[in-house]
Amino acid sequence: LRLGVAGWPVAHSRSPVMQNAALHALGLGDWRYQLLPLPPALFDQTVAALPANGFRGINVTIPYKQAALALADAASAAATATGAANTLLLQPDGTVVADNTDAPALRAAIAERLPLPGLSVFVLGAGGSARAAVWALTAAGADVHVWNRTASRAADLCAAIGGRPLAGLAAVATLRSVDLIVNCTSVGLRPEDELSALPLSPRLLGGARLVVDLVYGKHETPLIAAARAAGVETLGGLEILVRQGALALELFTGRKAPLAVMRAAVGL
Ligand code: NAP
Repeated sequence: LRLGVAGWPVAHSRSPVMQNAALHALGLGDWRYQLLPLPPALFDQTVAALPANGFRGINVTIPYKQAALALADAASAAATATGAANTLLLQPDGTVVADNTDAPALRAAIAERLPLPGLSVFVLGAGGSARAAVWALTAAGADVHVWNRTASRAADLCAAIGGRPLAGLAAVATLRSVDLIVNCTSVGLRPEDELSALPLSPRLLGGARLVVDLVYGKHETPLIAAARAAGVETLGGLEILVRQGALALELFTGRKAPLAVMRAAVGL
C-alpha cells in the first residue's frame, strides 16, 4: 500500500522519513510513503490515477492545498472552513475525501500547554497556515488578533474565519499584552531573515506565556531564539509538522501514530 506527499517542489520534505519510520514502528511493512513531485499541470490527473496504483492517501503541500480541496468529493469541517486540505483520503471506489490536519495539530500542541478558552492570541500572517491557526484557535474560544504585512489580507481572513484584524503598526501598538504569539509568516525561513520584519516589541514578546513559530529549518528561527532569550516557553515548526503528520497517518491507517518515533525521525 502506498502513501505520499505531493508538492512542487517537494524534494526537501521530511515527511517520507518521518512517515516511513512510523509505518515501520507500527509493523506496517507493506506500506510505503514516498515523494510525489508533481508539476502543476499534472496535479489533478495524477491524483485521479493514484488509487488504481495502490495509493490509500496523500498529503499535499505548497502549492496544492487549495487545489486538493477543490478536487475532493467530500471535505471535513477543518478543510472546508480553512479553504485548504493537506490530507487526501483515496477510497478504493475512487472517492476522494479532503481533510486538514494542520489546524487540529496546532490546536492540540498548544492546548497541552495552555487552556484555550479566553486565551489572548496574536497571530502574524494571513496565508494558508494563518487561516488554519485562526480557525483552530477561535473555534476553541481564544480571543485572536491578526496582523499581516498586507493589511487587507488580514481583514479578509478575519471577515471569512474570525478573529480581529490589526490594521498596521499603530493598531498593533494598542495590544498591551498577549498570552500566545503564533508566527504564520514565512519570516525566519531564510537565514538572512530578521525578526524586525515582525511587529513584536520586547514587551509583547517577553510578556507572552508561549511563542509558536510554524517556520522551521536547519537553524533555530530568530523568533524562537528571541523568545528563549526572554525566558518564554517555545514551540517550533517541526513539532507542528510531526503533529499534522501523525493525525494524517491515523486517518490513513486507522492506527495510533507513534509520536516519539516520528519526532526522533526528524531530529527532535
Ligand atoms: P503563505 O500562504 O505563502 O503566506 C505567507 C505569509 O508570510 C503571508 O502572510 C505573507 O504576508 C507573510 N510574509 C512573507 N514574507 C514576509 C516578510 N518579509 N515580512 C512579513 N511578512 C511576510 O504561506 P503559509 O502556507 O501560510 O506558510 C507560512 C510559513 O509557515 C512557511 O514558512 C511554511 O514553511 C510554514 N508552515 C509550517 C507548517 C508546519 O507544519 N510546521 C505548516 C504550514 C506552514 P503578505 O500577505 O503580506 O505577503
